[in-house]
Amino acid sequence: MQKKAAIIENPALLKLELLSKGVRLDKSALKSEEIAQALEIGNRVSVPLELDMILPGNVLVNIAVQECLDKDSCYVLKNDNGEFYITNGVAKTRVWIVPPPKFYNQTTSSGALLAKIGRTYGNYLLITPSGACEFLSRDMACKYCDVEAKQTPDKSIDDVLETVEAALKEGAAEYICFNIGYADSEDGGIKQLLPYIKAVKDSFNALICIQAQPPASDEWVDMTYAAGVDSLAYNLEVFDPEIFGLIAPGKKRLVGRDRYFKALARAAKVFPSGAVVSNLIIGLEPVESTLKGIDALAAFGVVPTLPLFRPLPNGELTSYVKLSPEAIAPIFIHLEAALNKNKLSSSWINHFNIVVNAIDAHLFGGQTPVKKNWPSIFSAKKHNKLALNLRRRLRVRATDNNEPTGL
Ligand code: SF4
Repeated sequence: MQKKAAIIENPALLKLELLSKGVRLDKSALKSEEIAQALEIGNRVSVPLELDMILPGNVLVNIAVQECLDKDSCYVLKNDNGEFYITNGVAKTRVWIVPPPKFYNQTTSSGALLAKIGRTYGNYLLITPSGACEFLSRDMACKYCDVEAKQTPDKSIDDVLETVEAALKEGAAEYICFNIGYADSEDGGIKQLLPYIKAVKDSFNALICIQAQPPASDEWVDMTYAAGVDSLAYNLEVFDPEIFGLIAPGKKRLVGRDRYFKALARAAKVFPSGAVVSNLIIGLEPVESTLKGIDALAAFGVVPTLPLFRPLPNGELTSYVKLSPEAIAPIFIHLEAALNKNKLSSSWINHFNIVVNAIDAHLFGGQTPVKKNWPSIFSAKKHNKLALNLRRRLRVRATDNNEPTGL
């Protein structure tokens, strides 16, 4: 009882619980306008419902709305006269639902629904321009690959531009994040993204991040930065070499674990501090292995992002290390210490609401005071485009001349 009440009272512990277990909608919540809108969008794009929710202390979380399978660990969202609460049957806390952006319901000139082109997570607009990934066609898909990624049709540049424009105009996103699978070529797939990056850079004052597979040579890492990308992710997913091969057979066999480290190390030299990130999914390997991975990546100048493993409905990956929120909390304190030790800025990962990040570590007893952190969130929104472009020109010129590019 006491433990259940303590979890509800600590927004960081509650965030961990909601991320891993999701939430069930009470009848009262179903009657609210925000939930009705979110359900309608979910139905139109045929994906399971996810909600952006703000917990006390301005802690942002993206949660899956799902059937509660374990009656003892069920979280329920209730609506009491327009005020939302999360309860676990023992205690409750007030939460705020972020309504889906209005642009989701618009269509492009070609007739495509904007919600099918891009979706927001916190202040990111995530777009997967092409569903092509050779891991999929060669039967080497990552075990955590979601059905949506496997079915994503190609998107035209015009459709993407119209979606970006609508999202920026509404103020629903500040960061445009492009996601791409793997191609068996020197560039690893990034080449497919370049026309989209250029088009967005030419038309809008927006920061761009990408998630891709490491290219075969460092020239493509440099070219990615030169093309205007502001933040880059090559996701390792787990640090343990054996588990890496089991959950990401394509990454292991067609790219190689070493190539992830080499490309990340190169990117960390070329991009600004904190702008190169890599996922280590909590719950797919023993905690000690995740901690080793955090230390290794941070030492390279790479910011580890730590999503919690969420089994996909009908997903292949069902076995994982089940961890309590109390067992997970020290991982974020460790992350905070690793970022501080390596003087890495956490301003980019502060915007990933789907992961718990170093900025939440103070809620677990970490050292970084809240007030020190919040200004970095807001200043990150004010990255000066002129300064970034100047930096990029200097960095690319240094790379061309084979001069050192370290920060
Ligand atoms: S890289 Fe992995 S997760 Fe991404 S689309 Fe390919 S198989 Fe799926």
